[in-house]
Amino acid sequence: MRVALAGNPNCGKTTLFNALTGSTAHVGNWPGVTVDKREGTYKKGGKKIEIVDLPGIYSLSPYTPEEVVSRNYIINERPDCIINIIDATNLERNLYLTSQILEINVPVVIALNMMDLVNKAGNVIDVIELEKKLGVKVIEISALRKEHLDVLMDVVDKESKCTRVGKSTLLNSELDSIIKNVKNELDNNHVNDSLFYAIKLIENDEIVSENLNSYNSFVSNEKKKFGKDYDFEEMVANLRYKYITDNFGSTVSYSNKNNLVMSKSDKIDKVLTHKIWGIPIFLCIMFIVFHFVFSSDLLFLNKLFGLEFTGKGIINFFTGMGYEGLIEGGETSLAGIPSPGVFLQSWMGFLTGSVVDFFRSILPEGEWYTGLICDGLLTGIDSIFSFIPQVMLLFLCISILEDSGYMARVAFIMDRAFRKFGLSGKAFIPLLMGFGCSVPAMMATKTLEDERERDVTIRLSPFFSCGAKAPVWAFLATVVAGRFLGDVFVFSIYLVGIIVAIVAAIIMKLFDKKYEVSPFIMELPNYHRPQFGNLMAHLWEKFKHFLFKASTIITASIIVIWFTSSFGWAFWNGMVDEIDDSILASLGKVLSYVFYPLGWAQGSDGWKYIASAITGLIAKEDVLTTMANLGLNEDTIALSDAAIYSFAVYNLFTLPCMAAVATAKSESSKKGFRVTMAWWLLSSYVLSFVFYWVGMLLGFNIFLGLLVVLLIVGLIILCGYIVSKKRVKAL
Ligand code: GDP
Ligand code: MG
Repeated sequence: MRVALAGNPNCGKTTLFNALTGSTAHVGNWPGVTVDKREGTYKKGGKKIEIVDLPGIYSLSPYTPEEVVSRNYIINERPDCIINIIDATNLERNLYLTSQILEINVPVVIALNMMDLVNKAGNVIDVIELEKKLGVKVIEISALRKEHLDVLMDVVDKESKCTRVGKSTLLNSELDSIIKNVKNELDNNHVNDSLFYAIKLIENDEIVSENLNSYNSFVSNEKKKFGKDYDFEEMVANLRYKYITDNFGSTVSYSNKNNLVMSKSDKIDKVLTHKIWGIPIFLCIMFIVFHFVFSSDLLFLNKLFGLEFTGKGIINFFTGMGYEGLIEGGETSLAGIPSPGVFLQSWMGFLTGSVVDFFRSILPEGEWYTGLICDGLLTGIDSIFSFIPQVMLLFLCISILEDSGYMARVAFIMDRAFRKFGLSGKAFIPLLMGFGCSVPAMMATKTLEDERERDVTIRLSPFFSCGAKAPVWAFLATVVAGRFLGDVFVFSIYLVGIIVAIVAAIIMKLFDKKYEVSPFIMELPNYHRPQFGNLMAHLWEKFKHFLFKASTIITASIIVIWFTSSFGWAFWNGMVDEIDDSILASLGKVLSYVFYPLGWAQGSDGWKYIASAITGLIAKEDVLTTMANLGLNEDTIALSDAAIYSFAVYNLFTLPCMAAVATAKSESSKKGFRVTMAWWLLSSYVLSFVFYWVGMLLGFNIFLGLLVVLLIVGLIILCGYIVSKKRVKAL
């Protein structure tokens, strides 16, 4: 027996799926699209039920791969029953999808999820009334707390043995007669699911109208009989909403008798998604995250009170001097109390550094394999590994923001601020995913309907600094930490990326004659306390991915870098004494003419930065390993502040890693991809140039820079406001 879970995004499908299937679950892909397909088995007594978690959707329209996958599955694969999960705290909005599912000839059971939240708020849902109006069984559950799941499955078991004929809320409306006529015509030709298809034909659904094109003339005749030239798609949607608000408003009774009472989520949203304060609050939250992960002065003791700690023992413990430093070791000083991230980083650096030292001590000096193992592999791997705990902490913070539901608000806030410029919140969702990795971010652009919008979003997604770039920023932060603040440095890089992405999108829109934003309806899920297990699973996935990358592609590039930097063109003569005579140096030096204006490629070490930036095209972590292999570290980096910043900017905006480029190619249109490549090459060069020269001319000060950035944000919002005012007047 096969059962499918269908429902809106965030209604708790996956939670229910996991609770029902436990360890039997496995994740695959729907054929042809990159939408997750989860399958598993529910076992109870002698019962065995196959369960499929369909992608989250708001309707059965043909506009996104999720919608198409879900409805194809329901109609073509014919599950024995559909469990339609409804977020009970958002009843009416969820019923929009339900009203469409009920039109299909398939048994349906409604799982009214999140009842724990409804009960906690003291609200009551009249389930009997609901069953009567919907004509199917409704079971109250809590997927999270695993409440009533067996009751649900018993009912599902029973219902799937029956047959059910589709029903529509649209019968009894103005459309009653046209639907009946089209349905009759389909019935006469023995088309299955005639009710569903009749309505889709009337709506002019792209896919159905094509598949059943022999009926198109019949349908347009019927529409003509109807009189005026209506937009039937809009009309159907409106009638559905109207039916739901007219009929289901009364099924929920709110605890203090008036439904104006605000839920806790609404109260939080009043602050966090405030019209004016929403964006500043977002920036503050992001800053707190970066401060927590990258600051060496967590409590501002040094910044505010000029305190500095000097001594051994406990101080050495905080600076990660390690075991030796605790007992004897020299005196060290500390600018305030380090943040957890910096603390983790210094200890991890100590540990991995010790491993390298250990191998150096047991391997013979001067042998080529000592060079390969110690200077090449271990030094390279050590350079990223020492930042992994810190980067994991950053991921943890971002996952918490995602899981709690805050990131959805950010998309909402961004949508409101930038809609005037033609940017839709729908595009911000893939962009925000870019903080994790650009590859899934680019894949997520499939949910955008407009090809051009997809191209632009793919183009901009690497500007949302990804996880592989994070160790590079973390390293540069330790380099600049003595000069200005590591946390402000990393925060500002992320911010520059976001701002450039937004400004770039606005510029691209200005060149576009079709100046129209598709409407963006987004359900803001209730805030949830993030689940520890979920977060850990997330981190584990990231870590596994990183280990895989480190053991394959990164190791391979380290070996290549080691070889080309240890040997000259006449490599049969053995290793060169001076790295400057190596193959890599000679190649890098040729390119340094190209990169000379960017600041960081000047001087005798210039070619090393070029080599690092170029290996970064394979995987962004390689920027860091290459720097380490070429001997660039905290003590030897002699770049000016402006040049370091310009180097970071270059790496942020240039071509992302190979995997992301390949994804961009497969997800973009042909022309779009060419523009994208050019855009990445050009914008990184130009921005790096600008940052360097502005930094040099104005005297580099990161606070000043941050202020300018905030000012620009303010200006953009102001412009948007003025533009929108003008529009309203013009209308
Ligand atoms: P999906 O998008 O439909 O797969 O939804 P998820 O299963 O990912 O759930 C979205 C969020 O709702 C998660 O944070 C869950 O922890 C939370 N959630 C799911 N079911 C319940 C429930 O019954 N009660 C509560 N309080 N939260 C739930
Ligand atoms: Mg899910």
